[in-house]
Amino acid sequence: MHNTDVTKYDKHIAIIGAGISGLTLGISLKLNNIPCVIFEKSPTVSEHGAGISISPNGKHILSKLNILDELKKVSGNTSETIFFSNLKEITRISSDVLTTSRKSLYDILLSKYISLDGEIHFNSELEKIDLDLKEISLKNDKSFNVGHIASCDGIKSICRSKAIDPSFPKYSGYSVWRSIINQKQSHIGFYLGAGFHIVSYPINNEQTSFVAAVKTNNQTRESWMTKGSYSDLQDDIPKEILQKFNSLKSSEIYKWGVFVRPKTRILFKKNVTFFGDAAHPIVPFIGQGGCLAIEDAYVFSNLYIKNNYNISKTQEEYQLIRLDRINKITKSSQNQGKLNHLKNPFLVFSRNFLMKNTNIIKYMTKNIWGYRPENDIHF
Ligand SMILES: Cc1cc2nc3c(=O)[nH]c(=O)nc-3n(C[C@H](O)[C@H](O)[C@H](O)COP(=O)(O)OP(=O)(O)OC[C@H]3O[C@@H](n4cnc5c(N)ncnc54)[C@H](O)[C@@H]3O)c2cc1C
Repeated sequence: MHNTDVTKYDKHIAIIGAGISGLTLGISLKLNNIPCVIFEKSPTVSEHGAGISISPNGKHILSKLNILDELKKVSGNTSETIFFSNLKEITRISSDVLTTSRKSLYDILLSKYISLDGEIHFNSELEKIDLDLKEISLKNDKSFNVGHIASCDGIKSICRSKAIDPSFPKYSGYSVWRSIINQKQSHIGFYLGAGFHIVSYPINNEQTSFVAAVKTNNQTRESWMTKGSYSDLQDDIPKEILQKFNSLKSSEIYKWGVFVRPKTRILFKKNVTFFGDAAHPIVPFIGQGGCLAIEDAYVFSNLYIKNNYNISKTQEEYQLIRLDRINKITKSSQNQGKLNHLKNPFLVFSRNFLMKNTNIIKYMTKNIWGYRPENDIHF
């Protein structure tokens, strides 16, 4: 052991990962004077040049944490979502979704955490955990005894694979193209087509996030770093639609393989609790992975206070409150992929008819977007 003070965090909640769940948890704990420390493997917060949409359930919590107004100032301003079936408009609805860049979100989360005197160690990759001794060991040869371990280390969580079992992800059959393009847009656009769908939204006043999910046997790596090319994208998406996003030709394009993992059954084990993608990886078809990560962090920290800092009671209640919602949204997200990509003309007609002539979109989003953690926590 190379560090001199292994016990300096033995009353702290050690948060592994400075992503959306880790930073939100850090803020929520620090706002309540609960000792915590974040360990992040990267040299800085890694935002991967991508966009993110935050629906009203996530916005509500960001507002409680006093972050929302600042984030709004640097985000896209949309109030309308337009749905197309290929290029033909199906319907348009008003929408209350914040669309932004991950960089803006991470920067604001991090600076809020730091402003609360939050402690964070970059270049600190977790390698091992001992759940009985409550010890974490980092790749930089440092080890610490900690009060509790919060696993916020994302989709390929080391904590989860060490504490429960290594989950074996299976390729879902979908891959996702993404790019940030230098093009202005004032609405959220959904283009539904046979075997693909595109979501585009402004991330600020100048740039637009372009995301295209395609059904393909051509398996891509599950990574933010895999580059793609415009000519490959043309093989997957009709060119009449791509013409709408002309700047794609001169933009960096990436491709993400969407993988699925076994259903989430537990959210804690002994002295580790799981948050966000480490707890419940979700396919990205209803834009809820980040929002659920924010909810997890907020619910856990408020339960911890309500339960007078009793960690076991908090873990039990956290799991009880979160599991059902998480699993329902995970299922909805998988179903949404199928609905977006319908090929059968009769089914396409029926879907479009319902979207145009009924309140089905509002109905489908009501329970997800309308969630308010206060109703579950009763504090
Ligand atoms: C293409 C795509 C589009 C998406 N769009 C949306 C959207 O519009 N809206 C939405 O709500 N969600 C969206 N999501 C989902 C969302 O990005 C994730 O659900 C969210 O980032 C999960 O947050 P997290 O904190 O669990 O993990 P992350 O944000 O991935 O953070 C994990 C952190 O842990 C760190 N880490 C990992 N291993 C270690 C280790 N061993 N030691 C120390 N640190 C470690 C990582 O470096 C990282 O900083 C999308 C996902 C994809 C793939």
